[in-house]
Amino acid sequence: MSTPALHTRLPAVGTTVFTRMSQLALEHGAVNLGQGFPDFGCDPKLVDLVGEAMRAGQNQYAPMTGIPALRAAIAAKVEKLYGRRYDDAAEITVTNGASQAIQSAILCSVHPGDEVIVIEPAYDCYLPAIALAGGVPVPVAMHIGSEGYSVPWDAVAAAVTPRTRMIVVNTPHNPTGSILRAADLDALAAVVAGTDILVLSDEVYEHMVYDGEQHASVSRHPVLAERAFVVSSFGKTYHVTGWKVGYVAAPAALTAEFRKVHQYNVFSVNTPMQHGIAAYMQDARPYLELPAFYQRKRDLFRAGLAGSRFELLPSNGTYFQCVRYDAISGLPEAEFATWLTVEANVAAIPVSAFYSRPTESGIVRFCFAKKDETLRKALETLSRL
Ligand SMILES: *Cc1c(COP(=O)(O)O)cnc(C)c1O
Repeated sequence: MSTPALHTRLPAVGTTVFTRMSQLALEHGAVNLGQGFPDFGCDPKLVDLVGEAMRAGQNQYAPMTGIPALRAAIAAKVEKLYGRRYDDAAEITVTNGASQAIQSAILCSVHPGDEVIVIEPAYDCYLPAIALAGGVPVPVAMHIGSEGYSVPWDAVAAAVTPRTRMIVVNTPHNPTGSILRAADLDALAAVVAGTDILVLSDEVYEHMVYDGEQHASVSRHPVLAERAFVVSSFGKTYHVTGWKVGYVAAPAALTAEFRKVHQYNVFSVNTPMQHGIAAYMQDARPYLELPAFYQRKRDLFRAGLAGSRFELLPSNGTYFQCVRYDAISGLPEAEFATWLTVEANVAAIPVSAFYSRPTESGIVRFCFAKKDETLRKALETLSRL
């Protein structure tokens, strides 16, 4: 007896760079500024609220769409911050993290042969979802100028064909730390005007925008919001990436299709976590205070690198800082990231890992969602390279 041959549906997928760099960091006792997760705890109050829900017996299947209290809290927050009122019964769905929201949004709307425009560098979960749907990814590279990364909307417009079904955007942007602004949303609206192209907007870092700027949520843009799946994640907002609870907001017709997939790939999301988060959301301070919390860490990290041979790119949002290293090394990004981990004992992620085609920009990404002492330890060596 032998295992039947299985033709992989995802030939391009191997072990992710995040797993590889985290392993390497562990082996070499390096400070891990690679993978994007906090090394500090969440608010104990949030844990208490989840515990209370468990003890109160909230341990069976939740409604398929999410518990009403959480959907209501999400709709209220989105309206307060971005001015669009989503119907919490028909337009908000609680998901198993943003990842499942993204995958289900793609699976419910992309047919075999449909093209999906992905702006690169791009977070790694878009392409496999497009592949599973039988879609064709159409990468458009971001522009890297003196002001950092930006989206070349003329190139996005030029990539549109009659087969284009969806455009994926991500703001604040992982890995670059760049953000879209109102003018970007207007440019995107111009690209999709008069077409049936859908927009998938990954906004998991919505509460991490710095220097007093506003998050340009697609839900804020009346024209785009009519055709958009807007995705966010409590993992990022509340320092609980391991909980995998997120949501998607979309007009009723799109939500109805989304739920057809959602109902059969996860059915429903962890019940006590939903109750705990719904109760915790009644206080807006934790997410309203997040920009100041992370901006301080960003500034600490940037100040520590200011006198170094790294060149800092802007970090307008997210908890990532990208740097050029050409004054330190001529190595390609993946090799430099490995060298940095082994020799300098600080793990970073090569930005080349976020492109579908070989692309070297001489840039690596650090994550500053770490305790100050972790950041200081990393800076001790980074500042001397
Ligand atoms: C972390 C992350 C996600 C996934 O969020 P989960 O809630 O952990 O599934 C999606 N998009 C981006 C850009 C991310 O950084």
